[in-house]
Amino acid sequence: SWTNLRNSELKERAARVIPGGMYGHESTALLPSDFPQFFQRAEGSRLWDVDGNEYIDFMCAYGPNLLGYRDPEVEAAVQAQMERGDTLTGPSDVMVTLAEQLVGMLSHAEWAMFCKNGTDATSMATVVARAHTGKRKILVGRGVYHGAAPWCTPGPAGILSEDRGHIVYYRDQDPQSLADAVKAHAGDIAAVFATPFRHETFRDQSEPDPTFAREARRLCDIEGAVLVLDEVRAAFRLSRDGAWAAFGVRPDLTSIGKVIGNGQPISALVGAENMRNAASSIFVTGSFWFSAVPMAAAVATLKIIRESDYLERLERMGQLLREGLAAQAVAHGFGLRQTGPVTMPQIFFADDPEMRLGYFWTAAAVRRGVYLHPYHNMFMNAALSEADIAQVLQATDEAFDLLKAQDRTQLPLEHPPVRGRLERAALLSA
Ligand code: PMP
Repeated sequence: SWTNLRNSELKERAARVIPGGMYGHESTALLPSDFPQFFQRAEGSRLWDVDGNEYIDFMCAYGPNLLGYRDPEVEAAVQAQMERGDTLTGPSDVMVTLAEQLVGMLSHAEWAMFCKNGTDATSMATVVARAHTGKRKILVGRGVYHGAAPWCTPGPAGILSEDRGHIVYYRDQDPQSLADAVKAHAGDIAAVFATPFRHETFRDQSEPDPTFAREARRLCDIEGAVLVLDEVRAAFRLSRDGAWAAFGVRPDLTSIGKVIGNGQPISALVGAENMRNAASSIFVTGSFWFSAVPMAAAVATLKIIRESDYLERLERMGQLLREGLAAQAVAHGFGLRQTGPVTMPQIFFADDPEMRLGYFWTAAAVRRGVYLHPYHNMFMNAALSEADIAQVLQATDEAFDLLKAQDRTQLPLEHPPVRGRLERAALLSA
């Protein structure tokens, strides 16, 4: 049966020695209070919190877990490289192999540079683009997440307006808005940033849109600006190639993060031939950017991406989950908005402006061993089986039953800060 005593104890200890008790995207401050903050282990599709509660996990460490936690082939590569050494005076030979493989897999990429986090890769993209063009402006979708550096962090505290003095915002995924922004800053544009589809918190997702992709490419070509596709979140969950490759659209630079080491710390910036000189000219580095273990993990992960049916399994399980939930929602009389690609589900209740239904339902699922998220898109992983999805749907059915039995007007607004976030999200989408 469910307990969270150890989690509560740890949260109290953390509050004394970690600012705010926790920070960043893995803070549970905005989540229903039942959501555990601390975990002890994971295996395949499963995750255990510090109280020993077991979950089928749809967050996948906010993306990195693509093949299942502790995938045996990736683990073997990690162990073997650990025996030889990790962070050395120079990179190991595995770095060259990894770059060759990534370049071989991504049809628009001719070179690769490796770093640790998605923010490293997106920030490096701004530097390469400015080095290439000699121009200043970076166009980004309003409210779109590209990381937590001063030029892009969503939190304003400690950030100067000068830090964003040359950041220009357009309406995400809107070709006309992008065209207007390009026109307004013509002659001074270094880069246009885009994501493969809309995947922001607290918002419905979009599908990848060929019209927007082609227009972004066309505008960049006319202007001589660098097109940067930020695939930190979506890489290899839409395609084994770049997300816009199917549309015939080749970005100049692509930032990739999260999944390439199946959880090991590594990200990458890859680019087209025309970006090679600029990429060679900049100075970027980090003490751990050349560590061999994450690169060995990435070589093993990319091999599975190339050779297995992981993507088709993600799609099949995602489809099963979406159809199952849709049927349950109808049976219980709720409207459910399930948006974006099935491999990266985002789920909201209709007529739930303050998210009281969504918070209650996801918390009920968590107490039944299914880790769903009320406001962030989720991630499928290749270890999920049909039996897992059946177990998930059993739990969500009970959660719908429980929600239906509630008096809607009495459901708590569990976390008042959510209201502020919602208002901000509404402003951003306006
Ligand atoms: N870009 C996108 C699209 C992301 O989703 C994220 C992370 N959620 C980042 C950049 C930043 O990545 P990281 O947290 O690894 O720095």
